[in-house]
Amino acid sequence: MEIYLDNSATTKSCKEAVDAAVWAMQEEYGNPSSLHRRGFTAQKLCEEARSALAAALSCAPSELYFTSGATEANNMALIGAAEARKRRGKTILVSAVEHPSVLEAALFLEKQGYRIKKIPPAEDGIFTAESFAKEVDGDTILVSAMAVNNETGLILPVKEIAKSVKAKNPDVLFHTDAVQAFLKRPIRLKGSGIDLLSVSGHKVYAPKGVGALYIKKGVRIAPLLYGGGQQGGVRSGTEPVPLIAAFGAAVQKGKQRLSENMAHYAQLSAFLEERAKAVPQIRMEKRPQHAPHIVSLSVYGIRSETMLHYLEQFGIYVSSGSACSKGKRSHVLEALGVDRMTADETLRISFSPDTTQEMIEELICRIAEGARSLAAQR
Ligand code: PMP
Repeated sequence: MEIYLDNSATTKSCKEAVDAAVWAMQEEYGNPSSLHRRGFTAQKLCEEARSALAAALSCAPSELYFTSGATEANNMALIGAAEARKRRGKTILVSAVEHPSVLEAALFLEKQGYRIKKIPPAEDGIFTAESFAKEVDGDTILVSAMAVNNETGLILPVKEIAKSVKAKNPDVLFHTDAVQAFLKRPIRLKGSGIDLLSVSGHKVYAPKGVGALYIKKGVRIAPLLYGGGQQGGVRSGTEPVPLIAAFGAAVQKGKQRLSENMAHYAQLSAFLEERAKAVPQIRMEKRPQHAPHIVSLSVYGIRSETMLHYLEQFGIYVSSGSACSKGKRSHVLEALGVDRMTADETLRISFSPDTTQEMIEELICRIAEGARSLAAQR
């Protein structure tokens, strides 16, 4: 039996997504910009997917732009907003625990002369709206804070942050990377104060290579790509119809099952926590303000990569910190005040709707066994 517990790194495409992609590749192969019927029907498929996404985010379809993924959506949000607002100010705030696709885009902007301020969490590892608002001044043009952290599941209070930074300076744009929150927690964009929001297909059971950026009506950002003017010129490039259709199908399914899946994740994480208590080598922090589909734990005395490969022998797949920070020290755990040794021993377990309690039982047994046998080998 394969036990795939790395769903925050990526997911297996659901059947609905695969069927939609195959249909689009074989039947709806037209270019959405073509003026003939083949173009029109391909365009229609894209619009159906856009509407499914809009329904899941409670926004208008016209506020959504398909991208190649969340890396592109995050780059577009930061660099596009900075470029469009460069005459108003030069300061950008980002949380210290953002994904590299936000932090590296911010670093790029810093080299272009923007001022980047990284907002750390409070002593207790929690982010407050106040810690962002107090750094906002007349020069601030953009604030970016993710909805759920991809390494630990920490929830940031994005709506409160959006409201309080705008109370201080109404011209500030607020962006959130909602990749790990989308279809795991309810998101209602209407009236939220969020101007820009990024999502990714492959974290929600659609294929890799597709994502979307929400741009609130009336907000202007500069494009990153210049070309044929597709998607209103905001994101040029022929739309990848099969990927978009698959994304739409996966989102529709995910939206229908949102509350069921949320309850499932809460049960699984409570079960994992309970079972982990019986293994003295496992350390798990108390998890207030954490999304239940991502669990971070450390195994005393065993480096996470060693444990990851030990588990792999039994067909159990987990992640050491985040899959995106391959081998590098985690900036997230560092910002959250986790000591170096514990950070090196941290595993990330992330669930899907198909994860069962038996899988968690097996995981915990194997970790306990591994903790004993690997320690004996040292
Ligand atoms: N943001 C977060 C929080 C993520 O977890 C990821 C994927 N690791 C990304 C952005 C990048 O998404 P994509 O792989 O679609 O570029």
